[in-house]
Amino acid sequence: MPLLKRILKGEKMGFRELSSAKQAIYLLQKGKPSPARKKASGVRKQEKRANHREETARIRDAVFARADGKCENCFKTDLHLQLDHWLGGSGRRVQRQSLASTWAVCASCHFARTDNMPDAAYWNDRFERHCFKHGYFFHPHAEHAPVKKQGNAPQAQELVIPEVPHD
Ligand SMILES: [Zn+2]
Repeated sequence: MPLLKRILKGEKMGFRELSSAKQAIYLLQKGKPSPARKKASGVRKQEKRANHREETARIRDAVFARADGKCENCFKTDLHLQLDHWLGGSGRRVQRQSLASTWAVCASCHFARTDNMPDAAYWNDRFERHCFKHGYFFHPHAEHAPVKKQGNAPQAQELVIPEVPHD
């Protein structure tokens, strides 16, 4: 720290030196993160990711158990089912995923859903029926809407009792 010693002595210095001295003082005051602290932060991130992975696996198992081998949209059997996140696409998929916001659908339903084919109204209707069947609160799809704060949540719509296939 020869620079700091010179400051303490009150020596005159150029702009460059003054700038580095200020930077050094700033880092001393702030406390530069030590390698140990950096590592701890990395471990914390790893743990967070592991928790998310566990949570995802838990939800996936529960959703597939609920689906019981049938696509939760078209109810066809003997298909390879995929987990579809109803509330996705805005970077909060993992935080917001739950048993009520995901369903197991076959590849062709998943493909159509992702592409919003034939249209959003169709999928809102399909997912609303699914929610009704399982007693979940239905959130209309809002792919690109900002995350809403509580109290600003969409109001429950009047439910029309849908016909639910029995097999
Ligand atoms: Zn399907």
